[in-house]
Amino acid sequence: MTQPVSANAAWRQRSLAAVWHPCTQMKLHAPEGVALPLIPVARAEGVWLHDHEGRRYLDAISSWWVNLFGHNHPAIRAALIDQLHTLDHVMLAGFTHGPVVELSERLAALTGLGHAFYGSDGASATEIALKMSAHHWRNAGRADKCRFVGVAGGYHGETVGALAVTDIALFREAYAPLVRLAATVPSPDARGAAPGETPADVAERAAAALGDWLAEHAHETAAVIIEPLIQCAAGMAMHDPVYLRRARELCDQHQVHLVLDEIAVGFGRTGTLFAHEQAGIRPDFLCLSKGLTGGTLPLSVVLTTDAVYAAFYDDEVARGFLHSHSYTGNPLACRAALATLDLFDQTDALRQNLGTSERLAAQFAPISHHPRVRHARRKGMVFAWDVLSSLPDFGRRYARHALAQGLLLRPIGHTLYAMPPYVIDEAEGELLARGALTALDATLAEETGPVPVSGVPDGV
Ligand SMILES: *Cc1c(COP(=O)(O)O)cnc(C)c1O
Repeated sequence: MTQPVSANAAWRQRSLAAVWHPCTQMKLHAPEGVALPLIPVARAEGVWLHDHEGRRYLDAISSWWVNLFGHNHPAIRAALIDQLHTLDHVMLAGFTHGPVVELSERLAALTGLGHAFYGSDGASATEIALKMSAHHWRNAGRADKCRFVGVAGGYHGETVGALAVTDIALFREAYAPLVRLAATVPSPDARGAAPGETPADVAERAAAALGDWLAEHAHETAAVIIEPLIQCAAGMAMHDPVYLRRARELCDQHQVHLVLDEIAVGFGRTGTLFAHEQAGIRPDFLCLSKGLTGGTLPLSVVLTTDAVYAAFYDDEVARGFLHSHSYTGNPLACRAALATLDLFDQTDALRQNLGTSERLAAQFAPISHHPRVRHARRKGMVFAWDVLSSLPDFGRRYARHALAQGLLLRPIGHTLYAMPPYVIDEAEGELLARGALTALDATLAEETGPVPVSGVPDGV
């Protein structure tokens, strides 16, 4: 008699046969010698992902940084069901609807940026911001201002246009001939501090380098693009807000747009609703996605100023911004976003998170003080630790041990991080902190080579 195939195994097999999974070397899932197990998920609730056989995993990275208030949140679910009863979708050219109007008004009130242009994913928001900036200058008679400058280690998505400003070799190298590379200036990453330097010193040094670059290239530059406060894909590289203040001053001085990509750090991750609030500045373009719908549906938005909007407002059609996506401003996604904004108000989430962040920091203390950990750091609800390890595939090995502990944690290179949903409670925090420590020791126990003694670990 043949062994009955388990529900998990059956879904895994069918997925591997038919689905090409993102950001994955598929051979790592190969049945012969699985380097990384593929986990079929049947349902999710709160911080938990449940498989088909009674195992559960604590989603400690919010499913790639999208989830805010836990999975399957009743308020967001109710809003979506209600919306499905009235309007599923309508094209946004020539038509409009309540959810997109209301969402745009609320985002304008929150950011001071009065015009909202919608896309579907983070990368499409990056594309929109870059195109809008260059087209703005063209409409202003400055077609020569069409280059961009980004920060070392920056990540802004993986479509061909977004890759131009994404400085992560692993994601870009194979496509280099397709990409019109942007310039790159040094990162304000606080880990780059020389002895005696503060994070603010590093930020000032990086800002000076941006200033030098702009002094030479501003005439041909449309915009500077920055991930404010945390460069997440670079390995949760954190910087002092003074960098953003200086970048704003430099952009004003040199007549260059400031694009802030808050796709990952927006909606409370860094402690404030938007990261740039901590620098007391306003960007010319703000890109939002990921947490925008609380992690339920794909939606992105680029918010911009009256001045940018006015440069497109004209009798001539071609001076308009003719960009579009089929699902631009999808009513369901907008309703999910409105329900998410309501949750910030109803739960006083930003203030609650202050306490949750402190509590988690205490629970994570054994990891922060682990002899192999360097640069323990935290901003809001983002926690990160660099691990000294001789294992080149530390991240993958760690992820496997974390799954064995019932945790979804995927280090970036040698950087272990946690970015849990805001609703994580004390007991769940304890499970996370203990399991993460156990997985760390289990991974390090697999080492065979000598341990490196110092240094900022490599990226992805
Ligand atoms: C995830 C991310 C993107 C890309 O968003 P997608 O929805 O994956 O296309 C862009 N910028 C930052 C900072 C991100 O973290």
